[in-house]
Amino acid sequence: MKYPNLFAPLDLGHLTLPNRILMGSMHTGLEDKARDYDKLAAYFAERARGGVGLMVTGGIAPSIEGWLKPFGGRLTLPWHKPRHRKLTRAVHAEGGRICLQILHAGRYGYHPLSVAPSRIKSPITPFTPRALSARGVERTIGDFVHCAKLAREAGYDGVEVMGSEGYLINEFIAARTNRRTDAWGGDAARRMRFPVEIVRRTREAVGRDFIIIYRLSMLDLVEGGQDWDEVATLARAIEAAGASIINTGIGWHEARVPTIVTSVPRAGFAWVTHRLKGEVAIPLVATNRINMPDVAERILAGGEADMVSMARPLLADPAWANKAKAGRSERINTCIACNQACLDHVFQNRRASCLVNPRACHETELKIETAVVRKRIAVVGAGPAGMACAATLGERGHAVTLIDQAGEIGGQFNYAKQIPGKEEFRETLRYFRHRLQDVGVDVRLGQAADAASLRAGGYDEVVIATGITPRRVSFPGSDDPRVLGYLDVLARHHPVGERVAIIGAGGIGFDVAEFLVEHVPSPTTDVDRWTREWGVDKQLRQRGGLQPPAPEAPARQVWLLQRSEGRPGARLNKTTGWVHRATLKAKRVTMLGKVGYERFDDSGLHITIDGKPQVLPVDHVVVCAGQEPNRGLADELSPTGMKVHVIGGADVAAELDARRAIAQGTRVASEI
Ligand code: FAD
Ligand code: NAP
Ligand code: SF4
Repeated sequence: MKYPNLFAPLDLGHLTLPNRILMGSMHTGLEDKARDYDKLAAYFAERARGGVGLMVTGGIAPSIEGWLKPFGGRLTLPWHKPRHRKLTRAVHAEGGRICLQILHAGRYGYHPLSVAPSRIKSPITPFTPRALSARGVERTIGDFVHCAKLAREAGYDGVEVMGSEGYLINEFIAARTNRRTDAWGGDAARRMRFPVEIVRRTREAVGRDFIIIYRLSMLDLVEGGQDWDEVATLARAIEAAGASIINTGIGWHEARVPTIVTSVPRAGFAWVTHRLKGEVAIPLVATNRINMPDVAERILAGGEADMVSMARPLLADPAWANKAKAGRSERINTCIACNQACLDHVFQNRRASCLVNPRACHETELKIETAVVRKRIAVVGAGPAGMACAATLGERGHAVTLIDQAGEIGGQFNYAKQIPGKEEFRETLRYFRHRLQDVGVDVRLGQAADAASLRAGGYDEVVIATGITPRRVSFPGSDDPRVLGYLDVLARHHPVGERVAIIGAGGIGFDVAEFLVEHVPSPTTDVDRWTREWGVDKQLRQRGGLQPPAPEAPARQVWLLQRSEGRPGARLNKTTGWVHRATLKAKRVTMLGKVGYERFDDSGLHITIDGKPQVLPVDHVVVCAGQEPNRGLADELSPTGMKVHVIGGADVAAELDARRAIAQGTRVASEI
């Protein structure tokens, strides 16, 4: 057994969990409508089959006031139970266990009925909450208890009471949002009465043989949050009130410190849970950026926690636990913490999925079935689109040849993996290397395919996944050797001077800027450095665990430019764009919009802003001005009558990302 601590059973008294893996709560967008519960059941069943010890549903409201958004998922009435029974039956049929997360959104509720301990609007929602009356507080506690009773009747193994992330319970606990002067506010003891009463009365109502997980905010990361003594006191009181397990909550949603994005070091917050060890006897769960078995095992072996929670890693690979147990962790499809298909989708009111696993939350719709007729298929291009397509075709039983002119698979992921904070992209390449091998794809590297060789190859069908060509710019001096393309920097490692202008402030422009301001190749693997840079105090001396951020000086002076009006980076992804903007701001990058590019010469880059001329005294310019499809091969082959499919950047380069490339490659392969 490679991971003895991870696969040690956990005795909870009335039942024993088979391992220390908790699938953390994750909103998928399937919780809100009764008609989606069959899909949700298939999603959970696949993960139960994959060997996870205990699962938690996405947040379900205990009342309409507690909705995250209008008509969000709730469990408040007896006739809500049958849809939940679909989930519990599906999970139990696979030998799994599942808890319902009770989430009252408090002032984060995106609707006009929201309530809070005090009438204080949150900075991230437009609605001002109504302050609960004392009777309203009692009624809300009753709502939690009633919801837990219904959950038990619907077959759940337990509930998780959501006490962190800045939702209602957290709002009662922190002085910054609780200005009450009655029995539910004032000093710390009165502020924490609300969660303690919820847990105590829930335990009374559901009996001993039912799991109660309490998600406790251990590090608020907002000013006026809890101090460490309050956290430890609350944990002891929650244990005494009858909780079975304490899960870790890190950071309110309004915090300005990233907590789960890919640039957060792996297990970057396990030290917080570790600090609580010894304060309580019930199991403690470590969370945030735990995505691979060796990381999880290290936390458990080091006594930092008793369980590990993973949410997104189980979206990425439902068989995570079974693969780890079998010692095949190199086969795990690792969550790269990009948020692009999970959280970003949820924020856009779309169903969650996963960039590296487009089947996530689409288990009943995107099926990979054995092909009826086995075909010989060439896939040209081993970028994300081509790798996903070839692997899926191979899995379905086709005879697949994957051809790439480069010496390694991965396409642009080989450039992305060099960006500080995108080290996880290497895992996707490792996963595909094994998967392609397992399904018998013939991978031919260092070979440029052309129309003649493909026609001569005797293939039944050809998939063109040849990606993109970086867009060039044209102005006087743009052909100067000091005007580089991003591939000169990331692929050919061309030396770059100390003052640099970047043309184009899209995803790649931001990434190149982050690459150029960093001194060391992988700064985000160092937890101490990361906490210092973002202003997290590991000594927990201040409320909320904050201290002034101390970013290291930038390696270069960088200007990041775009022609369009508005804030550069405004179009970056919702849940990660702010982190990229804050990172570059901390590194003193000058971000300019409404720029006209006039010429480049020995004095630097001549630009206009709003028509006013300016010279940026730079040594180099790096062009990151978007991309054009590289589809020449497809255009040559199509008229020959050959069956050709075009995917990824070769199909549409505009707004292409790996999420679309992998999803398209998988879908096309599922239909051939
Ligand atoms: P590519 O990755 O471009 O792969 C095409 C492949 O085809 C290449 O390997 C090439 O060698 C091969 N090829 C071309 N012509 C031939 C031929 N004639 N014969 C044989 N082989 C050929 N996307 C995200 O979603 N999230 C991110 O965070 C992200 N970060 C990025 C950071 C950087 C620095 C870069 C450069 C890109 C990033 N991307 C990101 C974009 C993402 O990598 C692309 O959207 C994705 O790689 C496109 O996949 P693809 O398979 O269509 O093409
Ligand atoms: P992009 O996001 O389309 O950005 C291109 C940039 O170049 C824009 O800022 C654009 O702004 C500028 N530009 C376009 N044409 C130009 C021209 N002719 N002259 C000068 N400037 C021009 O493309 P990208 O940055 O190359 O990224 C490619 C894809 O990879 C993106 O679609 C993105 O989704 C994906 N990606 C994602 C991430 C991520 O973290 N999610 C990271 C990297 C890449 P103006 O027109 O205003 O100048
Ligand atoms: Fe992880 Fe990205 Fe998939 Fe979300 S979309 S589960 S962050 S790999």
